[in-house]
Amino acid sequence: MPSAQVTELMPMLALRGLVVFPHMLIHFDVARDKSVKALEAAVLHGQTIFAVAQKDSLNPEPEPEDVYKVGTVAHIKQVLKLPNNTVRVLVEGAYRAVLESVTESEPVITVSVTPCPDKHRRISGQRKQALMRHTVDLFEEYVEMAPRAIPEILLNAREINEIGHLADYIAQTLALRLEERQSLIEEINPISRLEHVGVILLREIETLQIELQIQMKLRGQLVKNQRDYYLREQLKTIQGELGELGDDPLSEAEEYEIKVKKLHVDAQSRERLMREVTRLSKSSPHSPDAGVIRTYLDTCIELPWNTATPDRLDLARAKRILEREHFGLEKVKERVLEFLAVKRLAPKLRGQILCLVGPPGVGKTSVASSVAHAMGRKMARISLGGVRDEADIRGHRKTYVGAMPGRIITGVRQAGSRNPVLLLDEIDKMGHDFRGDPAAALLEVLDSEQNHSFRDHYLEIPFDLSDVLFITTANTTEPVPRALLDRMEVIELTSYTDEEKLQIAKRHLLPKQLKKHGLTAKTFKIHDDAVRELITGYTRESGVRRLERELAALCRKTAHKIAAGETEKVYIKRQELEKYAGVHRYKPDRPMPAGEAGVAAGLAWTRVGGEILYVEAGVIPGAGKVELTGNLGEIMKESARAALSYIRSRADALELPKDFYTKSDIHIHFPESAIPKDGPSAGITVAVAMVSALTGKPVRNDIAMTGEITIRGRVLPVGGLKEKTMAALRAGIKTVLIPADNEPDLANIDPTVKNALTFITASHMDDVLKATLTVNS
Ligand code: ADP
Repeated sequence: MPSAQVTELMPMLALRGLVVFPHMLIHFDVARDKSVKALEAAVLHGQTIFAVAQKDSLNPEPEPEDVYKVGTVAHIKQVLKLPNNTVRVLVEGAYRAVLESVTESEPVITVSVTPCPDKHRRISGQRKQALMRHTVDLFEEYVEMAPRAIPEILLNAREINEIGHLADYIAQTLALRLEERQSLIEEINPISRLEHVGVILLREIETLQIELQIQMKLRGQLVKNQRDYYLREQLKTIQGELGELGDDPLSEAEEYEIKVKKLHVDAQSRERLMREVTRLSKSSPHSPDAGVIRTYLDTCIELPWNTATPDRLDLARAKRILEREHFGLEKVKERVLEFLAVKRLAPKLRGQILCLVGPPGVGKTSVASSVAHAMGRKMARISLGGVRDEADIRGHRKTYVGAMPGRIITGVRQAGSRNPVLLLDEIDKMGHDFRGDPAAALLEVLDSEQNHSFRDHYLEIPFDLSDVLFITTANTTEPVPRALLDRMEVIELTSYTDEEKLQIAKRHLLPKQLKKHGLTAKTFKIHDDAVRELITGYTRESGVRRLERELAALCRKTAHKIAAGETEKVYIKRQELEKYAGVHRYKPDRPMPAGEAGVAAGLAWTRVGGEILYVEAGVIPGAGKVELTGNLGEIMKESARAALSYIRSRADALELPKDFYTKSDIHIHFPESAIPKDGPSAGITVAVAMVSALTGKPVRNDIAMTGEITIRGRVLPVGGLKEKTMAALRAGIKTVLIPADNEPDLANIDPTVKNALTFITASHMDDVLKATLTVNS
């Protein structure tokens, strides 16, 4: 670049709305006669030209005073003649220059100019670097956002390490107003120039951000409008196809109004429902609120307010149905018929609730459905197992998101009649927690004084449950709150014997399964012995649920074989059972080894039936400690201690040394530690095992016993005799010792079991010992 003092002469090119920055290559078209001439002159004289912006872009014939003072000396790189007298020119800016004077104005404006090189402010190198880096960062942000910026310009900017050059480069790429460009050309201090560029960048970025936001908003609006329009059109088409009411909130509300008016509800409830209908008519049809109201009204309208089935209380027919659908269960059937008879004689007598209690799979559910069947009522099953929240019974208030009516109303709705049989399953498995006691809510449901206007939180209007027949089931009545139990008529169902199970399997389970699997008595047969084997070797249960599943599995296999064309029919005999059902799951209970002291067979009752329990006692030299193991509950531990106290008090008679308990430890163990055990009925068994261990006299291995013991040796009665004796028979026991006070219960024991066993009764422990201990030979 020439030094600042030297003036130079060159043609002037007036630019319209354009500024050429030093170092920049730029091409533009030139059409004005004077400009074309200036270019031609320049090409002849050293290829340089003074390019300067005219103040008013619209001025067609600018004079020297019409252009700015500062412009750029540029080298002409290329000139291209285009048709209609236009010239396309490529120039490269060289340096800034100031117009000093005009030397010639015709035919070409020639001017004398002085270069004005960059004038540096004093600034540290570090600051300069920081300023450059900051500006490049801003530039990067701008390039990323600007829709038309090409990423290369950023790369180029990063390459530049001269501060004034960087400012010019960035200024050139930005789309700026002429005045702004001109002011940048006039700024000869490169640092101020770059600072100015930074400010412009910040402003541009901000503008771009706003633009972007506006754009997104507009686009979102557009998409939503299109989508809504599209969905609405679709909805209309679908509704048209279905012949349903249109989109119009008024006509929808009218439809609801008609439905509400038809319902058999009291005036207050109708008013309440009509209020909702009005609310619906006022809300926008697509609002979430309208959705909630619609669901609510649909739920209310769908309830069987007006629908009831006529009761059939023909006892002979009921008896036939019960007989046809169930084997055995004589007592249960009798009780159920009595119940129906009362219903027939006193239909207004309300609040009769049946509670069927028994182990799983003994037919509680199926008895209940026979009752419904016999009465000609609909039935719905409501499982209460695991219900711990009042809202499960009574529902959530409508204001909850996703609120629903509780299980009772849901059951009624499912049943579809105002007077169904509602089976409340597993009331003994119901819990409670901080959210309220479901049992209290259930009490209200079952209370005939209150349930004619049962209020579900969701419905808010009362529903009459007084015509519902409630039947509940439980495995055991213990956990059921007293108040609840008092309202019910308990009917017990007990375990089945193997023979009963065989009959149930043959008469009911198998025919049911055959039908389900598309088989007939011709295509699938199973020998009785094979069913017996299935009962003892593959299932261990009080009921017949597992047995039914095993039979289903056999049917499935057969159906598969027949479908695959392997065979036409299947007959399963005992020997072939393993082939179809897999290996045995259970071994028969092992009898107690003979001649061993310290082991006694007890009989236990569990929720799922009877069990035989071998109690072991061991005497080890020690200091009188009593150790109890085998997962025992508190009551069982206490009864073991009572047994020890009895033995100590009878040490003389038993010929035990007086101080036996100070010199030895006694360890009592109940096998199968994984299973928790509790209850007082193992008392006499523990005592027998201990005496046997202490005296060395073995216990008879064909005898099993049950009974509670007091510290004075009295034997108290126990429960669950039916299940216990069945377990004894299964284990190959011949004799069962029971408390004398339990003798009347023998009448309830199954005849097959009773005939196969011998019973001994005892009222005192001395008699127990006499009957159970063998004399050492
Ligand atoms: P629970 O409700 O007591 O657990 P279920 O009623 O579900 O038992 O009975 C299980 C299956 O056994 C059902 O298929 C049922 O029909 C059948 N069942 C149970 N007891 C009998 C019986 N005495 N006669 C006929 N089928 C029975």
